[in-house]
Amino acid sequence: MTAAAPGDGERLCLLCDEHDAMGGMLCPGCTKATVVRLECLPDLYAGLLPFLTPSTAVSQGRSGKGGPAPLPVVEGVLDLRGPGGMVGVAEDWLSSVRDARQMRQPVPAGSVEARLKAAAAGLLANMPWIAVSWPEAGTFAAEIRDLTRSVRSIIAPEPAVDRGERLGHCPAMDSAGVLCGAVLWLPRGEKAVRCEWCDTRYPPYVWGQLKTWMTEDARARDAA
Ligand SMILES: [Zn+2]
Ligand SMILES: [Zn+2]
Repeated sequence: MTAAAPGDGERLCLLCDEHDAMGGMLCPGCTKATVVRLECLPDLYAGLLPFLTPSTAVSQGRSGKGGPAPLPVVEGVLDLRGPGGMVGVAEDWLSSVRDARQMRQPVPAGSVEARLKAAAAGLLANMPWIAVSWPEAGTFAAEIRDLTRSVRSIIAPEPAVDRGERLGHCPAMDSAGVLCGAVLWLPRGEKAVRCEWCDTRYPPYVWGQLKTWMTEDARARDAA
């Protein structure tokens, strides 16, 4: 898609730098991706647990003097699961949001796991406002993205998955007339495009039309 200089009343998404037809801080695609990342935080936290044990097993199995040095990856896991790790990042951002919205600041309580769940839920509840109105939305979304990436790199190191060709943004509208906007990928060798977000399918015979819709979307944005 060709980029045009933003005009009056037009914004670039603070995370991906693409035009945002909605004129908010985050485009619909980045908003959805951030929501999914926040929803995943508690599971990612739990998923790190098994990675704390390998070094214990190794040190118990050795009878050498001094024992082996702990594996660096376990240090990372400890940091991420500790008070300053995932929970610290989520709570700090929630506190910034509440500050900006002049909301009450409850004192986090309970286990690290319970606190992370509460902070993620608090951020999710504020996502509509964050995406539309918060000037910090880009920094926030980038940090949540980097956090989930670093946890994933420990739990499930990806062998550089080839997602295929990036076609553009999904032009589907829901019943309320809200544009989907998620990124559409054409997997290599595949003959069908499916939106991973709204599940709209685009068989090859509508690709011509799909391109027209996307061009129209881009024009509408550039003209807005
Ligand atoms: Zn974006
Ligand atoms: Zn879609």
